[in-house]
Amino acid sequence: MNQYLLEQYKQLGISEKVIAFGEKIEADLKPRFEKIDAIAELNQLKVLNALQKNRVSAECFNQSSGYGYNDMGRDTLEAVYAETFKGEDALVRPQITCGTHALALALMSNLRPGDELLSPVGKPYDTLEEVIGIRPSKGSLAEYGITYAQVDLLPDGGFDWEGIRNVINEKTKLVTIQRSKGYATRPTLSVDRIGELVSFIKNIKPDVICMVDNCYGEFTEEKEPLEVGADMIVGSLIKNPGGGLAPIGGYICGKKECIENAAYRLTSPGLGKEVGASLGVIQSFYQGFFLAPTVTAGALKGAIFAANIYEKLGYKVVPNSTESRHDIIQAVEFENKDAMIAFCEGIQAAAPVDSYVTPEPWAMPGYDSDVIMAAGAFVQGSSIELSADGPVKEPYAVYFQGGLTWYHAKVGILMSLQKLYERNLVELD
Ligand SMILES: *Cc1c(COP(=O)(O)O)cnc(C)c1O
Repeated sequence: MNQYLLEQYKQLGISEKVIAFGEKIEADLKPRFEKIDAIAELNQLKVLNALQKNRVSAECFNQSSGYGYNDMGRDTLEAVYAETFKGEDALVRPQITCGTHALALALMSNLRPGDELLSPVGKPYDTLEEVIGIRPSKGSLAEYGITYAQVDLLPDGGFDWEGIRNVINEKTKLVTIQRSKGYATRPTLSVDRIGELVSFIKNIKPDVICMVDNCYGEFTEEKEPLEVGADMIVGSLIKNPGGGLAPIGGYICGKKECIENAAYRLTSPGLGKEVGASLGVIQSFYQGFFLAPTVTAGALKGAIFAANIYEKLGYKVVPNSTESRHDIIQAVEFENKDAMIAFCEGIQAAAPVDSYVTPEPWAMPGYDSDVIMAAGAFVQGSSIELSADGPVKEPYAVYFQGGLTWYHAKVGILMSLQKLYERNLVELD
């Protein structure tokens, strides 16, 4: 490493020993990083083609207010999403407040009383429990007479084909498939595996709607789930597709009828997509989407770098150092409270914003133990930016994701290692 670069790392507080350890790991990852770059290149061109084909112009960045009738920027952006993700239509709005909202919207608008929702991949993301009514809540699907069935993955992470076949019935209307493992321990699903599952389900019941919770998965592979038969994909703009620039928002993309249902629910029956002012944020949606393939690639490299560093030091990492990747989340099980806290302090200390604060475990609502969170982000709560969190209890696992650039993800991970090293929690020889 050249002297000038070394000086910069040292100025941030990272020691030569930690840097040397990281450099060795990084050198071995070159071939994998090249593959990630190739995926980013393909996805960059996909987005560029979609922007050009839809004749995006400077006028698309004008802001609308009030009803937002004839908001050309909004409508064109939705066409760009649809083109890129291979859907018939899309709903991409600042009025969709987060990923959970987007998922709730897709479910509530496409299900009717008497229908049944099925998750064939085990328990969905925590926040969906109240949406579905697994944990009773006001306005849940359960309150509207929509039932829920679940088939868990097999212990080896495979699909329970027999179980799925047995549970599909005349009421089954919509199947929800979560691509990312989220904060569970099951494997993340590749787009190809999602394709197999969708084919199997459509063989049994062709008219069932297959929805994919696409959070954290966008642009990690060459294909997206609509290309393998899914009817709807749903995600958050403060994750991958917002590219770090979108300050809010969510999207739903897929079959025209599904999107129309969602639009009628988001605004009102009869109004649908015709209203919804873009309020001046639309330019950041475009630019963020344009950057998203490279931003996602940087975050993926960071996840792989972290897995390789901490696995080498003897910790259990999920996914492991060599597994293929289908989302940007990395878990590290520290089995040690001090190490877990040191890791989070390192991530915080490397942040571009709020780097001087120290994250502390706190009793967050909805959790049965203290939780520690590290994030110093330009957009509050953005998890495409470098961030880490986890419940402070056995096995002291930290979930780590994001990084708007690979270089920043790298420095964050080195800083985490520095904190462990300073406290004699690891040996680097
Ligand atoms: C983040 C996430 C959600 C929820 O998104 P929020 O924006 O936090 O509401 C849902 N599903 C998965 C798999 C996620 O990663």
